[in-house]
Amino acid sequence: MGERSCMGSIGISVLKEETNMLKGIAASQGIAIAKVYKLEQPVISIEKKEAVVEEELQRLDAALAKTVADIERIREIASKQLAEEELAIFDAHLMMANDPEFKGQIEEMIRGEGVNADYAADFVGRMTVQMFESMDNEYFKERAADVKDVTFRLNCNLAGVIIPDLATLDEPVVVVAEDLTPSDTGSLNKEFARGFVTEIGGRTSHSAIMARSLELPAVVGCSGILETAKANDMIIMDAIEGVVILNPTAEQIEEYEAKQAAFLEEKKALLTLKDAESKSLDGHKVLLVGNIGSPDDLEGVIANGGEGVGLFRTEFLYMQSENDFPSEEVQFEAYKKVVEGMNGKPVVIRTLDIGGDKKLNYYSFDAEMNPFLGVRAIRFCLNNHEVFRTQLRALLRASAFGKLCIMFPMIATMQEFRDAKKIYNEERRALIDKGITVGDVEVGIMIEIPAAAVMADRLAKEVDFFSIGTNDLIQYSMAADRMSEKVSYLYQPLNPAILRLVKMAIDGAHANGKWCGMCGEMAGDELAAPLLLGLGLDEFSMSASSVLKTRKLINGLSYAEMKEVAEKAINLDTMEEVVELVQSTINK
Ligand code: PEP
Ligand code: MG
Repeated sequence: MGERSCMGSIGISVLKEETNMLKGIAASQGIAIAKVYKLEQPVISIEKKEAVVEEELQRLDAALAKTVADIERIREIASKQLAEEELAIFDAHLMMANDPEFKGQIEEMIRGEGVNADYAADFVGRMTVQMFESMDNEYFKERAADVKDVTFRLNCNLAGVIIPDLATLDEPVVVVAEDLTPSDTGSLNKEFARGFVTEIGGRTSHSAIMARSLELPAVVGCSGILETAKANDMIIMDAIEGVVILNPTAEQIEEYEAKQAAFLEEKKALLTLKDAESKSLDGHKVLLVGNIGSPDDLEGVIANGGEGVGLFRTEFLYMQSENDFPSEEVQFEAYKKVVEGMNGKPVVIRTLDIGGDKKLNYYSFDAEMNPFLGVRAIRFCLNNHEVFRTQLRALLRASAFGKLCIMFPMIATMQEFRDAKKIYNEERRALIDKGITVGDVEVGIMIEIPAAAVMADRLAKEVDFFSIGTNDLIQYSMAADRMSEKVSYLYQPLNPAILRLVKMAIDGAHANGKWCGMCGEMAGDELAAPLLLGLGLDEFSMSASSVLKTRKLINGLSYAEMKEVAEKAINLDTMEEVVELVQSTINK
């Protein structure tokens, strides 16, 4: 046991280290105390054996029946939290598991060769996968994935091995996994999942962002958790400090139950600020808005007093779509729901930001050595005009229903903005010519590439607004992969280098009469907010769960004083010095 300092995102606190404690990154605040549920794909070994035909046919029947029942049960549970089109995958799996031809081929092999059902099922499954994969057709390639999944489930049932499944949780647990995919987080049964701990990832990895949207406590980048935690161990996860405690003592449980109660109490107290303005002590107003990944997240933004939406990450619409890019109609309905739902408050919707770590089932990206530096976001859209135009039409049509701002992600050069804006103007003109109503839309860009921050004063002449994407801006400025916990120490929003880039963007916007927001995770960081206020940031966009906390903080600060503090901060040498400066200011 010993005292040590524990770096959260950038917050520093002193923590008593215990022997049963592991450290990670607090990605979504809260405390959970429950049993461990390990989300690990089981490993099964399948051997070819001589077997009694009748017995094997019976085993196959039973395992297939259980496979069908499992899929039906998962579909039933998932149908309570997922939209109809997202359930299509379960229907495809059911079709496969009920397919008489698939079953017939396995039976034929058992009878013909006298082998065990496990071997025959695996063999037929692999042959079918190969056949589908060799077809030059996206639809059949996807069926290959379905066959793999169903065969794996069938083989697990034959071997009597249970496959973990987040949709079927039926008691309170903390999920422990390597990482969670968007479909894992989508199928998470929120009634029983009290939080999750992942082995890899950083504060801005997508599972961390999803956890904040779901308001689910999460500790990510917790190296060693998979090896140390056993299924059903008791676990305390403190996603405020970024630590987990395995097999806690009664004393530790009591301590953290008290901490959890205090956290929930504070959260409740913050609700009194729900309808308040976000205004410094000396009357400087800012806008505190929410980041969302789907129209369903709007509820959280409204419940937490968000004054609008500062970032709708539309890529989730594309990632959840099963067989093709979502149609103009599907997109229009989603965007309209958000724009209308905010009732005249501003909504910033980002055009498709796909590529990097975000892939699509129905589209094969060309292999690249460094996908994060490759054809992603606006680069993808400028190479795939029809995909881009469809989205722009859906957005423009939705603009008639409220106050819409559209922004392009990953703009590196003025030329990219001009090219994107030209396409936008063409689509707008075409809709108007057809007599379709479109609203007054502001068109802006994300500042998430250092080149754009440096050129902000020029870019601001042509764009309507900026939104600073610090997750990528920091990744690209520090040359540090945002997914890698090994270099997560370089995620330094309070490094003077980052503050200078942020200042360039804000000053560039203001010099041209434009507004500047921030939708990266830095906007919701308690130590960064005072500096961002001082630097003149107009709009802070964050996960809904951070809005009220940030409002309380800003409403207690002096803008004039924070301007001076920010000026001092950008002239310091290190992040640690900036942290000290901010802490000594806000704790005065
Ligand atoms: C960012 O980069 O800061 C951002 C908001 O975009 P994303 O996290 O979706 O890349
Ligand atoms: Mg980004």
